[in-house]
Amino acid sequence: MTALFLSREPTLEEYWRAIVLFGRNVASYKFALAKSLLEIRPAAGQLLKLEDLAPTYSRHLSQHLQGANKQGTFKSSKFLDACRKSNTGEINASQLIEATVRYGFSNVIDAFHVVGQRETPQRFYIDERKINAGIRITDEFASLLNSSQIVDLPQEVEARWRLVETAWELGITRSLVAVDYDTSTESLVYVDKSRRRGPITGSRDSLNGYQKGRCFYCYSEIHIDPSGPSHPDVDHFFPHILKRITSTISIDGIWNLVLACKDCNRGIGGKFDRVPNLALLERLHRRNEFLISSHHPLREVLMQQTGNSEGARATFLNSTHNQARAVLIHEWAPVQKANPCF
Ligand SMILES: [Zn+2]
Repeated sequence: MTALFLSREPTLEEYWRAIVLFGRNVASYKFALAKSLLEIRPAAGQLLKLEDLAPTYSRHLSQHLQGANKQGTFKSSKFLDACRKSNTGEINASQLIEATVRYGFSNVIDAFHVVGQRETPQRFYIDERKINAGIRITDEFASLLNSSQIVDLPQEVEARWRLVETAWELGITRSLVAVDYDTSTESLVYVDKSRRRGPITGSRDSLNGYQKGRCFYCYSEIHIDPSGPSHPDVDHFFPHILKRITSTISIDGIWNLVLACKDCNRGIGGKFDRVPNLALLERLHRRNEFLISSHHPLREVLMQQTGNSEGARATFLNSTHNQARAVLIHEWAPVQKANPCF
């Protein structure tokens, strides 16, 4: 007779993922430490001194700071300031390592194994800072390195890191699953795991960077200042009316939003409910690929909504275009008003 319920010890991979995915996120140091350990690949029993860990660890933080300046929920950090100064060349490599050893590990070494307010029963290192100025690698970490899933673990840490950055950047503390446009409030909203929605400020700001202050369609100048005459519309590239005929495509998703001048969106000769032509579709694809490849905070959201590879995303856009043409029939192209700049 077999038991109905079996309790099984989590595997080492599961402990590791729990730490990376569900641990506390007051700062991204944990991700940097996880990435560093996977990269350095220390052996079982090895003493990893903080000064030997510091170069890899501070490099990951410095790189992430270039894409997202917010790496924690606290107001200031001597360690992060040192990483920023190293990025701008104000301090050299050995000064960065010195600052990292002094300030960079104070909370992360303790907090790493904490999941749900308790430490995991399996540990990947032992804290020996007091006696040996470093951490001692356990057999469990060495076994993890031999796991068949090891190739995926660095990317998983990276993906999680970016998502957490997104949440901080957008002021979202709960887990983020999508960013959509709310037409009634004309603002971007996040959707979290329990399908709750909340506002994100500055939707125009977050789209404007790529467009360099120009209308997505005609390249005329737009200004984010709401009192000015050239305040842009947040426009659905594939018209919003498609919501009535499809529930599978997230029309309100960030991938489908651009900033458009009022002429293009709803002036004489404006787009209204027509489908932008293939040249514009290609422009949209380029924009989305740029955001994804340039470490944009909404990268994960864009990939969730349109596909995990460039090929999949192109197919998605192409098939959406075909579906839209099938019901809206008419194509549209703008009168170009300035030189193309993206
Ligand atoms: Zn325009």
